[in-house]
Amino acid sequence: ENKTPANFIHAMIEEDIRNGKNGGRVHTRFPPEPNGYLHIGHAKSICLNFGTALKYNGKCNLRFDDTNPVKEDVEYVDSIRYDVHWLGFDWEGREFYASDYFPKLYEFAEKLILKGKAYVCDLTAEQIAEQKGTPTRPGQESPYRNRTADENLDLFRRMKAGEFPDGSRVLRAKIDMASPNMHMRDPILYRIIHTEHHRTGNQWCIYPMYDFAHGQSDSIEGITHSICTLEFEVHRPLYDWCLRELEIFAPQQIEFARLNMTYTVMSKRKLLELVKNNFVSGWDDPRMPTISGLRRRGYTPESIRNFSDLVGVAKRENVIDVGLLEFCVREDLNKKAQRVMGVLNPVKLIIDNYPEELTEEMPAVNNPENPEAGTRKVPFTRELYIEREDFMEDPPSKFFRLAPGREVRLKYAYIIKCESVVKDPVSGEITEIHCTYDPETLSGRPESNRKVKGTLHWVSAAHAVEAEIRLYDRLFMSEDPEDVPEGEDYKKNLNPDSLKVIRGYVEPFATGTKPLDKFQFERLGYFCTDSDTTAAKPVFNRTVALKDSWAK
Ligand code: ATP
Ligand code: MG
Ligand code: MG
Repeated sequence: ENKTPANFIHAMIEEDIRNGKNGGRVHTRFPPEPNGYLHIGHAKSICLNFGTALKYNGKCNLRFDDTNPVKEDVEYVDSIRYDVHWLGFDWEGREFYASDYFPKLYEFAEKLILKGKAYVCDLTAEQIAEQKGTPTRPGQESPYRNRTADENLDLFRRMKAGEFPDGSRVLRAKIDMASPNMHMRDPILYRIIHTEHHRTGNQWCIYPMYDFAHGQSDSIEGITHSICTLEFEVHRPLYDWCLRELEIFAPQQIEFARLNMTYTVMSKRKLLELVKNNFVSGWDDPRMPTISGLRRRGYTPESIRNFSDLVGVAKRENVIDVGLLEFCVREDLNKKAQRVMGVLNPVKLIIDNYPEELTEEMPAVNNPENPEAGTRKVPFTRELYIEREDFMEDPPSKFFRLAPGREVRLKYAYIIKCESVVKDPVSGEITEIHCTYDPETLSGRPESNRKVKGTLHWVSAAHAVEAEIRLYDRLFMSEDPEDVPEGEDYKKNLNPDSLKVIRGYVEPFATGTKPLDKFQFERLGYFCTDSDTTAAKPVFNRTVALKDSWAK
């Protein structure tokens, strides 16, 4: 195969394979910290890591980066496992936890101490920060920097034994307080935290920092290509330093630009804040950019994987239009979604010349994109509901829907003509639209060829099932919600109208559905059954409208 690699990461990997590096092996990992639910940015990373392994016949591990007991929880572990599987990827039993490596990482730390490459420092966090210097001014060396290896070993063992309170001491790497790279100025490797860990309980009271845990975990697992986001580029010298000083297998860290999306915040910290303060109903609120939120909204795994491919892998930060994600789900659901009829803003329509006791079963196409999906029967009667917006008493000439004296087709049924309307005497609102139908115009019959400009969807009033319909708009009103003046908060950009709950009528078919079932309500958009649905009260979420109303 002699194709150009899809992106710079694949180009690097192919180069490594050609050179026989690591025996041509490709082994990646997806390393979430279990401190929140996964979001669409993580989906990008999942697709990249698992996709790369699949492409090069390699392996991809799922590794929980659980080195901070304060923020982590099993609830998050479970949701992450679920979401990765749902997206369509499998770690084939290679599920690992950085916390499983605590004993090994501790050994590594002692090794650095014995080599004179790490020391116990008694400065407070504030003092360490103060002495760090600036990128243009060298930092100050800690007064504890020249402790002997024996003294360091003794203190470090006593840190582990629980003799010292939180924050009283840390283990630091002894590198270079004048390095132009701030991360190389004697970074902290271990800190004291007397907090129960969701896996190791109270076994440990010292915990490794990300920079000490991540590369070593990669090395222990034999990861060949450690793909991470751009902000870790400046950590790479430290990543390499640890592996070199420990003289262990050295994976290659490769950075790519994180996914940012318009009208979205994408940090677990902020998403957690929205959940905790009830700005949304939970991590899986259909307005959230979380994988669980997108799933509940009606997104398919395929649409998210396709989005991830289209976004590509960049070396520079950029912001992707959320419209691209919507395009991807629309495209996928257009191929797959069952079509049904539902009326969101109903007004009664009565066909005066249609027999009162008659019900016709109209054959309706389940999916015009997929003939195999077949047809279903939709009951048609004298009294129907149509959308209020599909009627105008005094329409402009370009209005091709229903109006007094005008004709339209009722989908899968007849051509009707509006004869009169009935209004509420007090409010003036139209309560009934009276029509006549032409029996010769039944859809599918040869005589039905007569053309009219508009076709409307409808529901038989006697058969209509009342449903709660949840219409979503963007959670944030501004394209870049985090772009706020000094002292203000991104939450002020929350869209107060991001959820609109209405009652509509749907054809009987829709009531036999279960959560996550997906449809197109004809002319209205793609919808899915919500997990709040019950037989008595069906609930549907609008995933996305049929066309991008924003593009206008
Ligand atoms: P957040 O800042 O949202 O909390 P994080 O990077 O702290 O995210 P992790 O659990 O550490 O979250 O992320 C797991 C993996 O997913 C990491 O390799 C990380 O680089 C990647 N990742 C996180 N956010 C994005 C994003 N927006 N785009 C691409 N990859 C991401
Ligand atoms: Mg992280
Ligand atoms: Mg984070």
